[in-house]
Amino acid sequence: MSETAKQQNISEYFGCNVFNETVMRDRLPKKVYEAVMKTKNLGTALDNSVADIVANAMKDWAVEKGATHYTHWFQPMTGITAEKHDSFLSAAENGKAILDFSGKELVKGEPDASSFPSGGLRATFEARGYTAWDPTSNAFIKDNSLYIPTAFCSYTGEILDKKTPLLRSMEVINQQALRILKLFGNTTATRVITTVGAEQEYFLIDKKLFDQRKDLVLTGRTLFGAKPPKGQELEDHYFGNIKKRVSDFMKDLDMELWKLGVYAKTEHNEAAPAQHELAPLFTTANIAADHNQLTMELMKKTALKHGLVCLLHEKPFAGVNGSGKHNNWSLLANDGQNLLDPGDTPQENLQFLLFLCAIIKAVHTYAPLLRLSAASAGNDHRLGANEAPPAIVSIFIGSNLEGVLNALEKGKTYVAPTNQEFVIGVDALPNFPKDTTDRNRTSPFAFTGNKFEYRMLGSSDSISCVNTIINTIVAQVLSEFADELEQADNFESALRQLMARTIKEHKSIIFNGNGYSEEWIAEAERRGLPNLPTTADALPHYLKDEYVSVFEKFKIYTRAEIASRTEILLDNYNKVINIEALTMLDMANKQILPAAIKYTKELCDTVIAKKAIGIEGGAEEKLVRRLSDITNSLDEAISVLNQKIIDSKNCNGSQELSMFCKNEILPSMQSLRALADELETIIPDTLWPFPTYLELLFMI
Ligand code: ADP
Ligand code: MG
Repeated sequence: MSETAKQQNISEYFGCNVFNETVMRDRLPKKVYEAVMKTKNLGTALDNSVADIVANAMKDWAVEKGATHYTHWFQPMTGITAEKHDSFLSAAENGKAILDFSGKELVKGEPDASSFPSGGLRATFEARGYTAWDPTSNAFIKDNSLYIPTAFCSYTGEILDKKTPLLRSMEVINQQALRILKLFGNTTATRVITTVGAEQEYFLIDKKLFDQRKDLVLTGRTLFGAKPPKGQELEDHYFGNIKKRVSDFMKDLDMELWKLGVYAKTEHNEAAPAQHELAPLFTTANIAADHNQLTMELMKKTALKHGLVCLLHEKPFAGVNGSGKHNNWSLLANDGQNLLDPGDTPQENLQFLLFLCAIIKAVHTYAPLLRLSAASAGNDHRLGANEAPPAIVSIFIGSNLEGVLNALEKGKTYVAPTNQEFVIGVDALPNFPKDTTDRNRTSPFAFTGNKFEYRMLGSSDSISCVNTIINTIVAQVLSEFADELEQADNFESALRQLMARTIKEHKSIIFNGNGYSEEWIAEAERRGLPNLPTTADALPHYLKDEYVSVFEKFKIYTRAEIASRTEILLDNYNKVINIEALTMLDMANKQILPAAIKYTKELCDTVIAKKAIGIEGGAEEKLVRRLSDITNSLDEAISVLNQKIIDSKNCNGSQELSMFCKNEILPSMQSLRALADELETIIPDTLWPFPTYLELLFMI
């Protein structure tokens, strides 16, 4: 079949490698199928007796599709996924082999956990870890293995992964949201699920060029690189024509994702040259998290097939935009209502307004938690860099909703402004209603019509942490609201009072203006909103008593688990910066200095040769003096950075080290880079030791 014919048949192969509802309905006895569906849709525990039947059906299906192995697929604290493959092979009598897969093997796995980060939760001698089947996310086949999504915990029950807390938080917000729905007289909804759509940004560069840069190979970003003559200033890349090589990659990627049931929907070019975005249709939060992991993995693999490398680093190139991930989040009741859909007259939709108030209060009260969910060494280069949301958390709700909330606070009736239509001015084109939440791209937490869009995440982040946090903090506020309203004699007046009070106390988190402006930083400070510019500043907040108590109350994390997570994240920050600093030294010593010396020699030879025939100094002499000055400074900067790395060994503990990285190492790296980049502008292309920005960004 030709590629195009294949494209036309999406529905035929969409999900063809997924053990999904259709396959289960076909292959499982009715009772077993219903039990699995109940678990999937209502979160009820699955009876052990059905596991054997499901396992066997899964195995038969997988083997028919060519699978030979199965793996428990999990999401340890590395932020990516892990897997260990076992074959279906079992020994049978007379030296024969049979293919076997039991319910026990489906439900529980025992990978050696000693090499995954645990942040001090467990000593290596307690290396045992367990993986437990997550029946709410479908198993699938990839590379001849049956992948079973699982949760990962230690022998003593501490959670070691990103999936478990997310699943717990979804359960918690379900319970609290149902309490609120009940207060509004809803008798049809029995479950509220968190829905998420994660838009993913990435860069594509040529593999041959990538291989020539140690910084890209070792750290995923360029540690050196002078600005090319052209960047993104012409804005000609955003939504621009997609180059053939890139569009072939996108088609291939879509196909691979569709086979795995990932709803890849939109592909387009992004703002920076060589930057692109993929947006999926939204789905249940934990499935969205699994799917985002698959998306990142397949982006990398598929790029290689096309001679390209997919960079998921938040800031692969200085001077052009970095890559983020937009986490679109909403709540969907199983009677079909999106709880964040305001309808045509939000002022009359008290239920919507109460959920909106809860989110406003949650984001205001727990802003540092949201900030730290996006904290990493890579993302620090992006947040607040006038291209991504600032490191200050605020909420955008648009002028209409702000008007509604103002009226509510003052107990007045809201009058909607009239004439909310765009007039396009061409008769043949329909006029369409103006989006009441016109798009503010600079806000970290924006209401976009019927969902909130959290925009601080870095492109390589797992979306699990932020959704765990949003679910938990909103559940906490919903539980406070429900506690109060359940006691009320007059529901509507209690409700209006509660909302007016909430708006008054928490509206300072609402900001509809330009989040990139300098004024906002000053204004946010006046409002008392925390500004945590780096990972080193943000992470210690994780352990604040008032946050820990909420996580403990809802049994999302224990204090020890939060401490271990903080430790892992800080440690990662420190290690990343250490690797980057060492890579810089290596490149500076072995590539940049030698290039500078070589060019110096060429120039000196020329000067001598010219003098020999009686021509004085001139351009070469001027240039060689300048070159020599910068080279000396570069050599000095190398020594400084080298010494800082040695000094960093004296830090006590990862928090102190993270501050040292932020205050001492990163600035020294920056100084070294500035000098190298200056050299790059004078040393000829033929002598420069690795591909430049021009080649990397424009020659694909
Ligand atoms: P933009 O780029 O303007 O933010 P897109 O249409 O590219 O908009 O992306 C919107 C994202 O929001 C998609 O991933 C979409 O699936 C997701 N989304 C839409 N509705 C919901 C919802 N109710 N809950 C969660 N995500 C949603
Ligand atoms: Mg978006």
